[in-house]
Amino acid sequence: DARDERNLVRYADMAMYEAKHSGRNTYAFFSQHLDAQVHEEQRLQQRLQQALENGDLELHYQPLLDVASNRIIGVEALTRWTDAELGPVAPARFIASAEANGLILPLGDWVIRDACKQLAQWARVGLKLDVSINISAMQFRQHDLVERLRAALETTGAPPECLEIEVTETVAMADVALTREQLRGLKALGIRVALDDFGTGYSSLAYLKSLPIDKLKIDRSFIADIGQDPESEMILRSIVHLGHSLGLSLVAEGVESAAQQAFLRDIGCDIYQGWLHSRAMPPQALADCLHARPI
Ligand code: C2E
Ligand code: MG
Ligand code: MG
Repeated sequence: DARDERNLVRYADMAMYEAKHSGRNTYAFFSQHLDAQVHEEQRLQQRLQQALENGDLELHYQPLLDVASNRIIGVEALTRWTDAELGPVAPARFIASAEANGLILPLGDWVIRDACKQLAQWARVGLKLDVSINISAMQFRQHDLVERLRAALETTGAPPECLEIEVTETVAMADVALTREQLRGLKALGIRVALDDFGTGYSSLAYLKSLPIDKLKIDRSFIADIGQDPESEMILRSIVHLGHSLGLSLVAEGVESAAQQAFLRDIGCDIYQGWLHSRAMPPQALADCLHARPI
């Protein structure tokens, strides 16, 4: 595969990483395809680092609506990146890549600061809107996460009771002792907590009951099945029932049709979010949207 030892070792290394990546305890051969993939990944990471340094990332905000009244009660901050060379890059792609090389920490810090700045600005003009931000696995393991959030709230003047963090069910359940400690710190600051992508991981009911969680965000895959798959509908009913009996509020993600919205109303789901109402949008567009439909 190579004509010199340096490249040969480098290629062997790539193959080893590939084997580790596909679940360990296996093997992989180097191929030109793998080489191309690694190059592409490196390029993405370099561009992302640049984008972060140049301030080219943006936060867009997707409305969350009360199912019963159809009023906007909050927004989720979602990072958007359009690179001059690569074009628009999907968050699922660059967040995973940032998580793999540690860039998620500075990126996550930027999200926290930018969202708090926005929250403070909205609060100053009398807009009481809850803002939720996504916290990745590596960010959640930071020992000073609570401290970082406290600092962002203090320097921006954002009202903590309007801030919510979203951590995926999988991340929260991976290390429950750590989760308990982090959530306790967050609650002490007055920040609310939502379990994201709920239903895709494995939650212990005992933990769900004992952790200071406020909301469950039901994964989009269940919502997409409404009207198609009776089993998913049954699971949705059960999740709503379970959540309510634990005193949690229920959010449905990825609502795209009026039929899905009607089903959610029928089963008593509290909040929804989805393209049926709107996609994530820049802060100004959101402000316009709120003026058009006052909260
Ligand atoms: P998530 O936190 O579960 O965010 C919801 C995702 O569903 C968003 O995708 C949103 O655009 C999408 N969505 C909302 N409504 C609909 C709908 O009706 N139909 C469909 N098909 N999709 C809908 P997005 O923005 O591409 O983000 C994907 C994931 O990337 C997020 O999932 C989150 O895990 C991660 N992410 C995005 N921004 C950030 C960030 O700032 N920090 C971290 N740590 N993760 C982020
Ligand atoms: Mg989320
Ligand atoms: Mg989600």
